[in-house]
Amino acid sequence: MSAYAILDRVRVAGISYPPTVYRALNDLIELGMVHRLQSRAAFVACDHGSCDGKAAFAICRECGKVVEISLSDKDERQLLALTPKDIVAEQITLEIAGLCASCRPAKAT
Ligand SMILES: [Zn+2]
Ligand SMILES: [Zn+2]
Repeated sequence: MSAYAILDRVRVAGISYPPTVYRALNDLIELGMVHRLQSRAAFVACDHGSCDGKAAFAICRECGKVVEISLSDKDERQLLALTPKDIVAEQITLEIAGLCASCRPAKAT
């Protein structure tokens, strides 16, 4: 969901001040309850209610369906091991783009 879509939704509930919404989003991201999708400038609710940021995402480029992939500590260590020496890793963003099952057959016909 984009920030604009979220603003539209909460406006119905009487919240129309964007900074309030952005602050709430940031809090939820910090709590691991919402994840930011870097490649789409969008936000997605955590599949597990909350996780500590160790997650990757597979995104259908057709319908925008997002599947959260949990990363183990081992996965994270292996990704961090790829970091070059002159960069100190702060955050890992891993997003896989593709087509979901329901978008594939539609494309074939
Ligand atoms: Zn999560
Ligand atoms: Zn799809």
